[in-house]
Amino acid sequence: MKLQRRSLLAGATASLAAFAPNAWAQGYPTKPITVVVPFAAGGPTDALARVLCQKMSEHLGQQLVVENIGGAGGTIGVNKVAKANSDGYTLLFTHMGTLAVNIALYKSLPYDSQKDLEPIGLGGTNPMVLVTKKDLPAKTFQEFQAYVKANQKKVQYGMAGIGAASHLGGLMLNSMMKVEVLEIPYKGTGPALNDLVSGQFDYMVDQAVNVLPQINSGNIKALGVSTLKRLPQLPDVPTIDEAGLKGYEVTIWNGLFGPKGMAKEQIAKVNEALGKTLADAAVSKRLTELAVDLPSKEEATPEALRKQLTASIDKWVPAVKAAGVKPE
Ligand code: ASP
Repeated sequence: MKLQRRSLLAGATASLAAFAPNAWAQGYPTKPITVVVPFAAGGPTDALARVLCQKMSEHLGQQLVVENIGGAGGTIGVNKVAKANSDGYTLLFTHMGTLAVNIALYKSLPYDSQKDLEPIGLGGTNPMVLVTKKDLPAKTFQEFQAYVKANQKKVQYGMAGIGAASHLGGLMLNSMMKVEVLEIPYKGTGPALNDLVSGQFDYMVDQAVNVLPQINSGNIKALGVSTLKRLPQLPDVPTIDEAGLKGYEVTIWNGLFGPKGMAKEQIAKVNEALGKTLADAAVSKRLTELAVDLPSKEEATPEALRKQLTASIDKWVPAVKAAGVKPE
């Protein structure tokens, strides 16, 4: 009799334990979810996040609300999520610059991207384009290189802060061209692009998703792409590698993360909504037109994103150090 009671109780505890984590996910989400973008509105990270969040909101039955927290190359926004409640209602959409590249560029970061965040899923990879103001006196990459070399004291390039994707693109370019030029930091390349269009600085290396519309409108010039193959969207623009900087190759992945400790069931639910969104014909057409490479099913898991982050740290930290940029 005693034994029976004990096993009944044990059974009750076991089923409660089995039920508890699922209960988190069953109701989840019951209210809007904040998605922090650590750059200003109107830039590439913001644009991608908004396209994905709009569709994901439909799949999750709750609004995913983008909150832009720009500054310090994205570290302020990332840190906010790294320290946030892990109840599943604060997420982060960011790129590899803020999680991998900047490890080589700051003496100390307020977060550890591998320990303080839970990967949820990859949100697309984007090539970069070297763009200049319209009236820069260079029509080709070779002319650009000669112009920058000859005018190092006055040439200025724009970027979204230390460790931003545009910083990585620019610093690798400048280091391979062996030039030192003045850096103009912004809270995101959305506002930087506006200033490039109005000719307030000379050039920038930024994601295609941001610069393609302005290139197509003739408001800025594209002189090179950051991939080893030309982009179908810009067939006449050479790769920077073929134009003379052998080995120049930078592409930027973006991903969705939660704070450490977010429940596995919630991660799975958000990942499923992200997967459905990336498989949506209208979303994939829109992003493909903007040169965003969407992940395959295998590349879209939380585990694959964790591996991607580790691989990027292993690749970019030594590469940036070798480029000779001193950490701030
Ligand atoms: N593309 C920017 C960067 O350079 C960030 C942004 O504004 O989305 O990292």
